[in-house]
Amino acid sequence: MTKLLHRSIGASLPRAVAGHGITITDSQGRRYIDGSGGAAVSCLGHNHAEVLEAMQVQMNALSYAHTSFFTTDVAEELAERLAALAPDRLDHVYLVSGGSEAVEAALKMARQYYVEIGQPQRRHIIARRQSYHGNTIGALATGGNAMRRAQFQPILPETHHVSPCYAYRDQQVGESADQYAARLADELETKIHELGSDQVMAFVAEPVVGATLGAVPAVKGYFKRVREICDRYGILLILDEVMCGMGRTGTLFAFDQEGVVPDLVTVAKGLGGGFQPIGAVLLSRNIYAAFRDGSGLFQHGHTYIGHPIAAAAANKVVEIITRDGMMQHVHDMGDRLQAGLETALGQSPFVGDIRGRGLFRGIEIVADKDSKAPFDPSLKTYAKIKKAAMARGLLCYPMGGTIDGVRGDHVLLAPPYICTPDEIDQIVERIAATIIEVTVAQ
Ligand code: PLP
Repeated sequence: MTKLLHRSIGASLPRAVAGHGITITDSQGRRYIDGSGGAAVSCLGHNHAEVLEAMQVQMNALSYAHTSFFTTDVAEELAERLAALAPDRLDHVYLVSGGSEAVEAALKMARQYYVEIGQPQRRHIIARRQSYHGNTIGALATGGNAMRRAQFQPILPETHHVSPCYAYRDQQVGESADQYAARLADELETKIHELGSDQVMAFVAEPVVGATLGAVPAVKGYFKRVREICDRYGILLILDEVMCGMGRTGTLFAFDQEGVVPDLVTVAKGLGGGFQPIGAVLLSRNIYAAFRDGSGLFQHGHTYIGHPIAAAAANKVVEIITRDGMMQHVHDMGDRLQAGLETALGQSPFVGDIRGRGLFRGIEIVADKDSKAPFDPSLKTYAKIKKAAMARGLLCYPMGGTIDGVRGDHVLLAPPYICTPDEIDQIVERIAATIIEVTVAQ
């Protein structure tokens, strides 16, 4: 009966009618704990009074003014706020309407930077397999998920991929974290040489891989090595924090825990907390200077960049998440979530790995714990878990294709930062019961 082209045609979806705190209610009055904030979006839960008020104030004053005619106080304030919170080098901000737009803008910034500084031959993008950077053409080409790319492959621009840092499956027995990081760094360096070190424009990576791997942080030292290699060959490092950024891992930027600063960082989901569609690119001083001293512009733009109501919402979201104690709370609740999951699921023969940082956790499901063999993909274990969790009143974010885009299943949890210990325990209870129910039945 629907006139909407849904993600999946024929799927029968409940109608969401209300949200409050960490729950969403449907038209039948059923309540769901939002254990994943949708797709790691709703960092402050739903209907947060302070954010709604900030949006209302802006709406009453001005809803929209095109950025080629005007700037606005809220957009300026948001840029000031983000630049002040970021490491010194990242001192300018470009506002967009979501994650894919942020990644597209970052790629174009990288390309324009090299044109401006007289290295127009630099054009290659290197990213990692099993990453996700968005669904627009450039972002999809950058992402390394075989399944999402497959049918669009013929129209994707050329990009190159190296291995992800995925210790659970790829760190060899007897190989230290340091040796593993060095091996991956060598692979990146080899790829750079293969393409021509003066032809490569950017290396793109998620500091903690979200949707496609299920909250996988890199081993210690990996990003330091990556940064060194990028510096050695004059390649820009773009870190995609659309999912893992804005406090999700217990620090405002996920890269804060890696001891590196990127040249460009993309943020989105947690920036607007779902109250408004918004994303941003933070760019380094030298990229900004190249634009300013070169053509005097960034050759890009969308109708809704710097949207005032989105900027007003994001200003308030960022103000709240950077208040005293909030990141500590994310850290503490994240530890509680991890410990709870380990207690409830650690003995399951079908749970291979429980990982993540802060309130960004992944559970990898396996058919055999010793061999790490996945379930047959045709069983669609991840889809069964999503459905069964909803039946128990829990929203989680499971995905298939964890290993190579086809094989493997994981569940991503990304609860709102406002979760109480009791709510974390309820999430653990429901997800554990769901995973046990689905895996034992297979
Ligand atoms: N980059 C990462 C790391 C993401 O996780 C996503 C979305 O899941 C995107 C980019 C794309 O963001 P959006 O869906 O807002 O376009």
